[in-house]
This record gives sequence, C-alpha cells and structure tokens, in this order.
Amino acid sequence: MQNIEKNLNHIRAQIVAAAEAHDRDPDSVLLLAVSKRKPASDIRTAFEFGQQHFGENYLQEAQQKMRELEDLDICWHFIGAIQSNKTRDIASDFDWAHCIDRIKIARRLSEQRPAGMPPLNVCIQVNIDHEDSKAGIDLAEVAELAAAIQDLPGIRLRGLMTIPAPRASFEEQRPAFALLAQALADLRQQGIDCDTLSMGMTQDMEAAIAEGSTLVRIGTAIFGERTLIRLSALSARATWQPA
Ligand SMILES: *Cc1c(COP(=O)(O)O)cnc(C)c1O
Repeated sequence: MQNIEKNLNHIRAQIVAAAEAHDRDPDSVLLLAVSKRKPASDIRTAFEFGQQHFGENYLQEAQQKMRELEDLDICWHFIGAIQSNKTRDIASDFDWAHCIDRIKIARRLSEQRPAGMPPLNVCIQVNIDHEDSKAGIDLAEVAELAAAIQDLPGIRLRGLMTIPAPRASFEEQRPAFALLAQALADLRQQGIDCDTLSMGMTQDMEAAIAEGSTLVRIGTAIFGERTLIRLSALSARATWQPA
C-alpha cells in the first residue's frame, strides 16, 4: 500500500474511533485533506483513494494544482488568510473559504462570486485564545459579523473555524473547542442557519471531535512533513526539491 493510502485509512479509522467514543455519528465529521506545499500528484493519489475535499493556503500554488487536476471532481477549500487582492480568484475558484474575519472581505467575495455558481461556503475564523500571532475575531464579535454575512447573496455562512493555541493533553484541548461549539449553538439559537465547526488538526483532532467538530483539517498525517519548495516544483512532473 502507498503511504498516502495507508495514512488516509489510519486517519479515517481515528475519526470513526473518536466519533464513536464520544457518541457521535462518524459520518458527521468531514475529513479535509490539507495539501499545501504538496504536489498535484499527491492530491491525485488521495483522490483515487476516495478523498474529495482538499484544503489549500496559498492562492497561486492552489491554482497551479487546480489546472493539473481539472479532470477530477474535487471540492476545494481555501484555508489561508484572505487579502483583498485575492478575493476575485478565491470567489471564482473555490467552493469554501474558512478564514473570514472581516465584513469587507465577505462583501468582496459575495460581489465577485460568479453568477451561475452556488454561493461560496464560508466560515468565520475565531481567535479563540486571543493570540497576537493568529488571525480571527473575538467570540464577542461573532454575532454581528454573522448577521452581516447573512445579507450577502454570493456567500453562505456555514459556521465557525478556529486554530487554538497548542496544548499537550486531550483534556486541556477540549475547552477552546467547547467555546466554539457554544458560539455555533448561539448563532443557531438566533435563527442563523449554519452547521459547520471547522476545528481539529493532526495534534488535537480527538478533542475537537469530542466537542462537536464537523470538519477536521489534516495535512501532515496524510501527506507527511512539508518542506519549503519552489512553486515551479509543484508540478506533477517536476522533481520535488528544497527551495
Ligand atoms: C496547515 C494547516 C492545517 C494542517 O496542519 P497539519 O499540522 O499539517 O495537519 C490545518 N489547518 C490550517 C488552517 C492550516 O493552515
């Protein structure tokens, strides 16, 4: 078995085990394979083993891979920070954007979503541990931004996303995820129709699932460690080489 297939099987089994351990339906947790800095050929391999959702952080890099993988029915998620000058391409090339943290970006994505495409699925990024190094808004600001996004026809608010500060143990990891889950419940209580908790990575997946994650973003555990590479080396045919 190839590594990617083995890794995917392992992660899928871990998701099932975590869901069952916490009385959840395993099918309610979507696996997003984070393929940043990995070649199109790795994505193709994962797709052949049944993986359909892929997450990318860098626009140009993602677009290069999309061109090589045009023949595959992939659902593309943008999980990086979004600058104003990137919104047009993100609105036209992606199915999801996970890191919305201001209304200006949300408005641009909505206006620039091409007519004829379904609304772009978006999540609001919450900086749950108030870290200077991370993007996202405070929990107290979520309701207002969510309400504003509701009025935008080109995007659809699906829920909340977060990257908590790293913590060593399962028990220590849970509270931050519980806060995000509560915030989603509050939005629904206000009548905002959303269903997604984008939370949990390789190191804290079980705690996220225990607290209700519906989408885990996993890179390294599927594709292996990332090295810095030249953009030109991302082609399926080029050899992999350090920058
Ligand atoms: C890179 C990245 C991931 C995946 O991280 P791994 O540690 O490789 O599993 C998940 N979410 C976001 C937002 C990322 O940028």
